[in-house]
Amino acid sequence: IDARIDTADQDERAAEAALRPKGLDEFVGQPKVRDQLSLVLRAAQARGRAPDHVLLSGPPGLGKTTLAMIIAHELGTGLRVTSGPAIQHAGDLAAILSSLEEGEVLFIDEIHRMARAAEEMLYVAMEDFRVDVIVGKGPGATAIPLDIPPFTLVGATTRSGLLPAPLRDRFGFTGHLDFYSDEDLAVVLRRSAALLGVTAAEEGLTEIAGRSRGTPRVANRLLRRVRDYAQVRGDGRIDLAAARTALGIYEVDELGLDRLDRAVLTMLCTRFGGGPVGLGTLAVSVGEEPDTVETVAEPYLVREGLIARTPRGRVATAAAWAHLGLTAPG
Ligand code: ADP
Repeated sequence: IDARIDTADQDERAAEAALRPKGLDEFVGQPKVRDQLSLVLRAAQARGRAPDHVLLSGPPGLGKTTLAMIIAHELGTGLRVTSGPAIQHAGDLAAILSSLEEGEVLFIDEIHRMARAAEEMLYVAMEDFRVDVIVGKGPGATAIPLDIPPFTLVGATTRSGLLPAPLRDRFGFTGHLDFYSDEDLAVVLRRSAALLGVTAAEEGLTEIAGRSRGTPRVANRLLRRVRDYAQVRGDGRIDLAAARTALGIYEVDELGLDRLDRAVLTMLCTRFGGGPVGLGTLAVSVGEEPDTVETVAEPYLVREGLIARTPRGRVATAAAWAHLGLTAPG
């Protein structure tokens, strides 16, 4: 295990936590989800009960974890955080559920990756606030019902279509997070710059926003890199020139495409002549799971009009060829 990578990862997470909005009014953009969620929370508070379970879907870095924390903060309750991959046995989930306190928010990130065996248990817990603890093995095993206090589940997934219908149906509210506009990202960046204590000109922030892949996590990360540059090579101020030069040094594409986005696009054009090619084949060629290509890279490439999904497979558009500086085959 590389200790340096581990530290870098921790630094990154700490930096991210410092910039997280605490309340719903600080959460930038996504007006529809914010408004709907605010109603769900206010109504539950007025009734003095735990609100309905909430499902949040959307690509990584758009604010699902942040919203889960905001929900707990707005309700003034505790938050328990876990993830689908961490729940490999029903017992893992039983342990968490049975230790919840009344009204707490349980956040399960990547809920679509939870073990099947745990799903059944979650259905019952969500609906009846009960856990059936299995005692013994084989034919002699018995289920002992255990009541658990009412809680609110907040599930996050990169795509709600990946969830089995019975699980999806048990959420009272589903919020879909979409990529942010450059204007909204500029607002996120202005807030972050103030929190970091750096002086930033509007044009500098707009430049960073435009290359942030519609994603607040990316915007905040790029802001920190531009700040590094401005502190070491400039006067500490983030202006247009500093933003441009720094983003050039870090090889951030004008459209903000990341390594995977670019790999997918390049493979599609160079190896498959621009398609159409099936998702599975494309994923293998970039060494990724089809699911990752479909839920992480593809949504943004489609939004930017670089690839199109057709019944016969993925196709590179004229804009994709132009962006890569390649000539489309006649
Ligand atoms: P996800 O859980 O969807 O992967 P996160 O909630 O972890 O995304 O958000 C990533 C980062 O982006 C966080 O550090 C948070 O500060 C920032 N962020 C996300 N959404 C917003 C928003 N609407 N307003 C301000 N900052 C945001």
